[in-house]
Amino acid sequence: MLGILRSLGMTARAALRRPVTIQYPEFHREIANRDRAFPILIWDEAVDEPFCTGCHACERACPVECMTVVMKDNPKHATGESKRRKIIDEFWIDYARCMRCNICVEVCNFEAIGMNNTWAGHELSVFDRKELVLDLDMLLAQSKAKKVEPGLRA
Ligand code: SF4
Ligand code: SF4
Repeated sequence: MLGILRSLGMTARAALRRPVTIQYPEFHREIANRDRAFPILIWDEAVDEPFCTGCHACERACPVECMTVVMKDNPKHATGESKRRKIIDEFWIDYARCMRCNICVEVCNFEAIGMNNTWAGHELSVFDRKELVLDLDMLLAQSKAKKVEPGLRA
């Protein structure tokens, strides 16, 4: 009899307990600041151009060779608007191959790239893996729209 009452009590407690699950994707848990999704490029608002100079350091260091970088002369340097002589022209990262190792962020001397720490960096489901190759505009979009933590720059 005592055992039956105990199990009934346990059932009642479980029925009254608040649920531990949430209705994803309607609700999102807060992401920790140290979270690492995929790398994105950072926009320099002071000069209105990317921090990236297209130096190729990240491209050479990437262990899975999923980055492609093309540099050009910076037209803003010629007019005196920017101190960067070179600037990024084209940039692609294949997120389907990226293993989120953070090495590109570590080797960048210009703090031009950071690991996305928002849900947008995680919710990347696509039907065709070619859509996971992000170009320069896509890699800069979140930073330009101020949708990433300011602390993304180390
Ligand atoms: S996080 Fe690692 S694998 Fe991904 S692009 Fe950077 S260096 Fe390459
Ligand atoms: S992100 Fe940094 S390391 Fe990579 S090309 Fe741009 S400036 Fe160089």
